[in-house]
Amino acid sequence: MGVPFTRAAAITLSDIGERVLASPQRLTVLGATGSIGESTLDLVGREPERFEIVALTAQSNAEKLAALAIKHRAQIAVVGDERCYEDLKAHLSGTGIEAAAGEDALAEAASRPADCTMAAIVGAAGLKPTFAAARQGRRVALANKECLVSAGDVFLAACRQSGAQLLPVDSEHSAALQSLAGAERAAVERIVLTASGGPFRCWPVERLKDAKPEEALKHPNWSMGAKITIDSATLMNKGLELIEAYHLFPVGVDQLDAVIHPQSVVHCFVHYIDGSVIAQLGPPDMRTPIALALNWPERRVTPTARLDLITVGSLTFEAVDDARFPGPQMAKDALRRGGSAPAVLNAANEVAVAAFLERGIGFLDIARVVARTLEEADRRGMIRATESLEDVLAADTHGRELARTVIATPH
Ligand code: NAD
Ligand code: MG
Repeated sequence: MGVPFTRAAAITLSDIGERVLASPQRLTVLGATGSIGESTLDLVGREPERFEIVALTAQSNAEKLAALAIKHRAQIAVVGDERCYEDLKAHLSGTGIEAAAGEDALAEAASRPADCTMAAIVGAAGLKPTFAAARQGRRVALANKECLVSAGDVFLAACRQSGAQLLPVDSEHSAALQSLAGAERAAVERIVLTASGGPFRCWPVERLKDAKPEEALKHPNWSMGAKITIDSATLMNKGLELIEAYHLFPVGVDQLDAVIHPQSVVHCFVHYIDGSVIAQLGPPDMRTPIALALNWPERRVTPTARLDLITVGSLTFEAVDDARFPGPQMAKDALRRGGSAPAVLNAANEVAVAAFLERGIGFLDIARVVARTLEEADRRGMIRATESLEDVLAADTHGRELARTVIATPH
C-alpha cells in the first residue's frame, strides 16, 4: 500500500484563481483568541471598514473572546467548552451579540454565511468546524495544519465539491504559493521548506533527553501557540508541513524536503526543471501571510517590521539531523504509508506533546511515542483508507487511544 509518488496537484494558482472578495468582507475567525486569531484580528482592527465579523470562537477563554467579539462587533461568539457558556453569556449581556457553546455550536457558527473563514483552531479539534466552513464554498484561509495532515484528500475533496477557495496561511506554504506564481505543474522539480531548527538546534542528544517544557517553549524567532512551539522544537512541525505541502502543491513525497535556516528569513524554495530556484523572504511575523490569505489576490499594507538584509547580514542553511529530529522523516514515511497513517501520526503527536507539557514524558519520548504508535497501529491493522470525515475522526480517536497506551507501557 502507499500513495503514488507523483500525482495531480491539489491546488495551484490557477485553481485558486483571482477571485476577489466583496468589501466589506464577511469574516469568521475560528480560534480567535489564539496567536493566529489575534494576529488576524489585529489586521482587521486596522481596517475595520473592510470587514464584517460573523463569528468568533475559542475553546475556553470566555472573557477574552467576549472582549474581541465586542471590539469587532461580531454576530456570534462561541466557546467550545460548554462549562464556559454562562461566563460568555454574562460578558456579552446587553451587547446584542449571540453566545453559544459546544462542539455542535462551533460547527454551526462555522457554517454561517461568511466570505472568508480564518481556520485557526489548533489540532484535530479544528477538523469539524473547518470542514463546515469549507462546505460553504467560499474562502478558507487555512492556518490549522492538522486538518490537511489528518484529512488531506478528504478535505480537498470537500473543498472541490463546494467550490471553496483554499488559501494557505502557514508561512512556508504561503511562500510556496507565491513562488509558484505562473508555474506550469510540470516545470516544478522540488519544494524545500525552511525550518528555524528551534531552540534545541545545537543541543546534543544527551542534553535533549532532559530538555524541559519551559526550554522548548522558547522559540528563537516566532511567537506562537504552545503546541506548534513544541512541534517546532522537535521539528515535527516541519513534518506536518511537508504533509501539508504534499496536499497543496504539485509534487510527490520525494520532491519535498526541509532545510534548517536559523534566521527564518527565507520561508520556502521552489526548484524548477531549468535549474531556477524561486524563494519568498519576509520577516518572521504571521501578519504577512495572514494578510495575503485574507486579501488575495491583493497585497495590502501590513504593520510588520520590514526585512533589512544588511542587518540580517548572512543567511545560513544546514541539513536536518534525522537522528536527533526524526519528525520530518516520520511524516514522509506516513505519507508513503498512506491511508490513515498521517492521521494516526498527528493524533499520537498531539497526545505526546500534551504529555510532555504536563511533564509526563521526556522531550525525546515525543518522537518515540509517535513512532511506536504508528508501528503498533500498523501491526494491529489499524491503518486503513480514509474516505470520509468520519473515517478520519475514527482514525484520530484510535490513534489517541493507542498513543496513551504506548505512553503508559514501560519501555
Ligand atoms: P493557539 O494555541 O495560540 O490558539 C489556538 C486557538 O484554538 C485558540 O483560540 C483556542 O481557544 C482554540 N482552541 C484550542 N483548542 C480548541 C478546541 N478543542 N476546540 C475549539 N477551539 C480550540 O494556536 P496558534 O499558534 O494560533 O495556532 C493555530 C493553528 O495555526 C495551529 O494549527 C497551528 O499549527 C497553525 N499555525 C500557527 C502559526 C503561528 O505562528 N502561531 C503558524 C503557522 C500555522
Ligand atoms: Mg510554518
